[in-house]
Amino acid sequence: MLDKVVIANRGEIALRILRACHALGIRTVAVHSTVDRNLKHVAMADESVCIGPAPSSESYLNMASIIAAAEVTDAQAIHPGYGFLSENADFAERVEQSGFVFIGPRADTIRLMGDKVEAIRAMKEAGVPCVPGSGGPLGDDNAANSAIAKEIAYPVIVKAAGGGGGRGMRVVHTEAHLANAIATTKQEAKAAFGNDMVYMEKFLENPRHVEIQVLADGQGGAIHLGERDCSMQRRHQKVVEEAPAPGITDQQRAEIGKVCVEACIRIGYRGAGTFEFLYENGHFYFIEMNTRIQVEHPVTELITGIDLVREQLMIAAGQKLSLKQSDIVLRGHAIECRINAEDPDSFLPSPGLIQHFHAPGGPGVRVDSHIYEGYKVPPNYDSMIGKLIVHGATREQAICRMRVALSEMVVDGIKTNIPLQQRILADGGFQQGGQNIHYLEKQLAERKEKSLSIV
Ligand code: ADP
Repeated sequence: MLDKVVIANRGEIALRILRACHALGIRTVAVHSTVDRNLKHVAMADESVCIGPAPSSESYLNMASIIAAAEVTDAQAIHPGYGFLSENADFAERVEQSGFVFIGPRADTIRLMGDKVEAIRAMKEAGVPCVPGSGGPLGDDNAANSAIAKEIAYPVIVKAAGGGGGRGMRVVHTEAHLANAIATTKQEAKAAFGNDMVYMEKFLENPRHVEIQVLADGQGGAIHLGERDCSMQRRHQKVVEEAPAPGITDQQRAEIGKVCVEACIRIGYRGAGTFEFLYENGHFYFIEMNTRIQVEHPVTELITGIDLVREQLMIAAGQKLSLKQSDIVLRGHAIECRINAEDPDSFLPSPGLIQHFHAPGGPGVRVDSHIYEGYKVPPNYDSMIGKLIVHGATREQAICRMRVALSEMVVDGIKTNIPLQQRILADGGFQQGGQNIHYLEKQLAERKEKSLSIV
């Protein structure tokens, strides 16, 4: 087993990693920026190192500082969490070249999945169903591009190969707009990602977001842990996640899961990972693979009973996967609400001092959060201050438990999106389940219209 791990992240995921390490008897090193000295996990870690000022470009994205922290503390491995450097192939490479274990896939796997054109090509070859598309980068020949779009059939979506975070995409409904859309997306992609390569896909109009969690040891062992439905999104950001996905049958799960497992073995995947799919009319369409632990991993943990971060640590220690596919049994239903420090109506960030905090509790309730009374949410980072996750025997019970838990949760001093989460949980469409990725935004737009008409 590893004996000391650097946690190269902050907030709730840093705390989550720390807990998994301590449960395995692994010592921890917290690295933090100057404004993050008072983070909960910094106090709980065996050692801590300040790696730079508040801007993440000078701290949590500062590769040299993080590797230096591992050197001075004589740690063995670095866990990147999610966001920041977690999907940076150059970082993974530098970590390993410096003699440390990167807790994640090999750098070449991260690089492959970071180039969406290459990732889709590799997945197609591995038998993973993909969205009908150009199958490669688009050139400058307008007539050739028009022919591709005609073949796929409008509407199509032009996407940046190096894109991420829901940016660098443009939907095109008619041929008249195609050439211009490709040129503009290229320009934007060049400016935002330093890579002007774009590709084309069929634009699915009413899909759901359904993703498959996998674990692989890079030594021929791989399993899947079922799916999560993350269709409740705003601006391509997930707001509520759940597992299993409503309406997905055992047979569908087994089939798509097997495809993902086989793809993992084929590419020699190592660690935890997620295959993201759009799901429409009973079909799965691969869009991308996330090569890290995800924010929404706890819903899978609650229905499988598997500690995913513990598994990441065991795999990084070079151990073979001890779990077999037959060990994975899904029990009940889990829902996660992301709790953000933001105005529930305008979505503007709301950093500041937390004057009171009461965490909810009771059967099947889990709170993954780093906040406490007197903690000051800095304005420099993502606004997520925690996750409320519940488990129930059925989806109905999980919804009831989440509604009670949300009503118990008190975060005073700053604004949070708890009222928004309460509205979502009370919404008839959400309660019905299986809504598509546009549902939440449509509801929000309708609500805005109504409130304007009252004024
Ligand atoms: P990113 O890496 O930026 O998150 P993705 O490829 O995962 O990019 O796409 C982000 C979101 O964009 C998806 O969750 C979905 O809402 C939308 N999207 C992407 N591709 C398509 C498509 N072919 N049809 C419809 N929506 C799409």
